[in-house]
Amino acid sequence: MSSILQCIECAKQYPINRVIYSCEACGGLLDVKHDFGSEASRFAREVFDERLGSLAAPYNSGVWRFKELVYPGIDKAAIVSRMEGNTNLYDVPRVATFAGVESMYLKHEGENPTGSFKDRGMTTGVTQAKLLGMERVACASTGNTSASMASYAAYAGMQGIVFLQNQQIAMGKLAQGIAYGATCVQINADFDRNMELVREVSDRLGIYVLNSINPFRLEGQKSIMFEALQQLRWQAPDWIVVPGGNLGNSSAFGKGLLEMYEVGLIDRMPRLAIIQAEGANPLYRHFRAGFKSFEPVNAQTIATAIKIGNPVNLQKAIRTLEWTSGVVEQVSDEQIMDAKAVIDGAGIGCEPASACSVAGAKKLVQNGTIKRGDSVLAVLTGNVLKDPEATIGYHANQLAGITPGYRNRILQADDNIAEIIRLLE
Ligand SMILES: *Cc1c(COP(=O)(O)O)cnc(C)c1O
Ligand SMILES: [Zn+2]
Repeated sequence: MSSILQCIECAKQYPINRVIYSCEACGGLLDVKHDFGSEASRFAREVFDERLGSLAAPYNSGVWRFKELVYPGIDKAAIVSRMEGNTNLYDVPRVATFAGVESMYLKHEGENPTGSFKDRGMTTGVTQAKLLGMERVACASTGNTSASMASYAAYAGMQGIVFLQNQQIAMGKLAQGIAYGATCVQINADFDRNMELVREVSDRLGIYVLNSINPFRLEGQKSIMFEALQQLRWQAPDWIVVPGGNLGNSSAFGKGLLEMYEVGLIDRMPRLAIIQAEGANPLYRHFRAGFKSFEPVNAQTIATAIKIGNPVNLQKAIRTLEWTSGVVEQVSDEQIMDAKAVIDGAGIGCEPASACSVAGAKKLVQNGTIKRGDSVLAVLTGNVLKDPEATIGYHANQLAGITPGYRNRILQADDNIAEIIRLLE
């Protein structure tokens, strides 16, 4: 069972143990390509269903349960896993009503060990770092990648190095990077510039880069689709909706869905809708302009996890849109925060960027792209505890340019029983 790295533009191949993030010949992004062989029974639904609830490593992980599709040739002993994945799929009528569809599933990736889907990519990325003999790993991050990498690096006994922008990083995420013992460097530059810096510095110092430009990250993130489809008894929904920042997830979903279709785990391809914030919408613009000439944007949005103006996985995301007859939509910060308030208020909870998927689904229903009766699966990418300032600011009506539609005011009372009773009546 062999795997190789292959350029998505010119198909040039590289051995799996090369430290390389883009094609030497043409600069294109690289895929990890697996030889799945011809033995279809290896990929029977029953094989993966039997492992559900397994107590033994590595199948107790929601990523490595699908080992044959994620990294077929790997020695189990090399795997660095925190039993990530295994996240719940919720059927929430209140959120479906808000979006305007009859039913909507929420796949809650905020339930991962460090509170975001990044853990699924980090188990494969850090495992590869270990296989390569790396002692140091680095990433640029809007917050969740650093939180996840810091945890997995520490767990694997490596030094994690995090390049953070010095503005607008959510408190929960910054706290995690520090707590897990990463070397945290706040840099006076936005995410897109930090991404360039981390590649240059890592190249010079021989550090392994664990941003989603690293194709091993995406191999882990594919498993969101594997697991969600398994939870749906392998019946593909009409739509899968996901927020888009650096477009790693969107890219991983396309690859994962296509592989599932090719090995016969699903009978049809769902359509993918990628949702961006209006202030960080380079893919949306590119899509609307028929993919003519790409223009990065200067990103600005309250959804800091997707505050990215020059997404590294652009070409893979475009390929995914082709494979899935996908669409791209944009939503305002107010629409994001209102959708978040509805998801939170239903008892589920998520961080701002995650609410894009529900806000985007609602908009796509309004403009007729998604039909009322379509089955929709929306991915919630991060945990409600990640960005408390955004949540409290919304409910206190203190966010510039946002009028909260679903406020939960904090009531104030003196130490007086009659007054408190009056308030509660
Ligand atoms: C990283 C992240 C995103 C963006 O995902 P991409 O793969 O970069 O498009 C969205 N939401 C949350 C919570 C994230 O952490
Ligand atoms: Zn190439």
